[in-house]
Amino acid sequence: MNIQLPQAVVCGAGGFIGGHLVKSLVNRGVRVIRAVDIKPLEHWHQVTEGVENLCLDLKEKKNCLIASRGAEHVYQLAADMGGMGFIENNKALCMLNVLTSTNMLVAARETGVKRFFYASSACVYNAQKQTRPEVVALKESDAYPALPEDGYGWEKLFSERMCRHFEEEFDMICRVARYHNVYGPHGTWTGGREKAPAAICRKVIEAKKSGIHEINIWGNGEQTRSFMFIDDCVRGTEMIINSNIEEPINLGSNELVTINHLVDIVEEIAGIRLKRTYNLNAPKGVAGRNSDNSMILDRLGWEPSIRLRDGLEQTYRWIEVEMARENIRESKQECLANSMAS
Ligand code: NAD
Repeated sequence: MNIQLPQAVVCGAGGFIGGHLVKSLVNRGVRVIRAVDIKPLEHWHQVTEGVENLCLDLKEKKNCLIASRGAEHVYQLAADMGGMGFIENNKALCMLNVLTSTNMLVAARETGVKRFFYASSACVYNAQKQTRPEVVALKESDAYPALPEDGYGWEKLFSERMCRHFEEEFDMICRVARYHNVYGPHGTWTGGREKAPAAICRKVIEAKKSGIHEINIWGNGEQTRSFMFIDDCVRGTEMIINSNIEEPINLGSNELVTINHLVDIVEEIAGIRLKRTYNLNAPKGVAGRNSDNSMILDRLGWEPSIRLRDGLEQTYRWIEVEMARENIRESKQECLANSMAS
């Protein structure tokens, strides 16, 4: 039987999750007609051959129209974002993502897109439900009454609502997933936008290489989180866009760990023990957060299940290779500079 798979556009395709999503869709035979990102192509985390890769600023409506032309499915992942270090210090920039989400929704409607996926976040959840490390996992209804993460979380919550009303009043199918901390190979691992798993892998590798066996941890290390491996994220995203789930749904792991335990696991992978120091003034986000997966289990009969230890092993090995490449690049540049000076 020849099943016609939809034509898809991925926005934010030059980023971590978008890059993996394009690859996965292409591998499944979905015709990805377009991958779009604001960054120049040489800065994309991954570039997939055979796809129209476009560099466009999706805050502009005219570019959103170009992006969504001819598409049946739109995956809206484009956002100016990063880990806690970025979102706590760039609230206005995070709020400006509303231009991208709004203009993509409007353009998708005008160009007749059939299904629209929006990447929301666990940062929409009410902060008062996350004040202790020993959390009760967050269920979808915990987003209201609203008290999300300032800046980034408010924009996500607003854009979720816009998806809901586009579905109700404009008959456009909108699906919304609330991602909980995604990590894996090809993620940002340095530069200020990286998240805890990648940052800890990098710090452990640096300590190992330098011989200075110390690690500095943001917060007291007792804050709790769950981390979802990228393969689960991509799989869940594809299931959710094709589902009949009209309300925002959690897409996250429910394997809860403290940041100290995350460090234990990375140390074990690296075969090293480090002296820990804690920076209590660093951005650290809420005290505890976990994903309640009752709804996804009920609606899809599936939940993210890749164990943290397994995902971290792959992530650690990938960052190790990237850091070695970076070192070679830097020494080559140094040699070149020295030879020009002499
Ligand atoms: P990312 O930063 O790696 O990717 C986002 C991409 O969007 C970047 O490549 C960026 O250049 C692009 N972008 C930003 N503004 C744009 C614009 N105006 N026009 C076109 N492209 C633009 O982030 P990610 O981790 O891949 O996250 C993807 C989506 O998932 C984001 O919407 C993010 O908010 C959401 N999310 C991610 C996580 C996570 O843990 N990674 C958790 C919750 C939600």
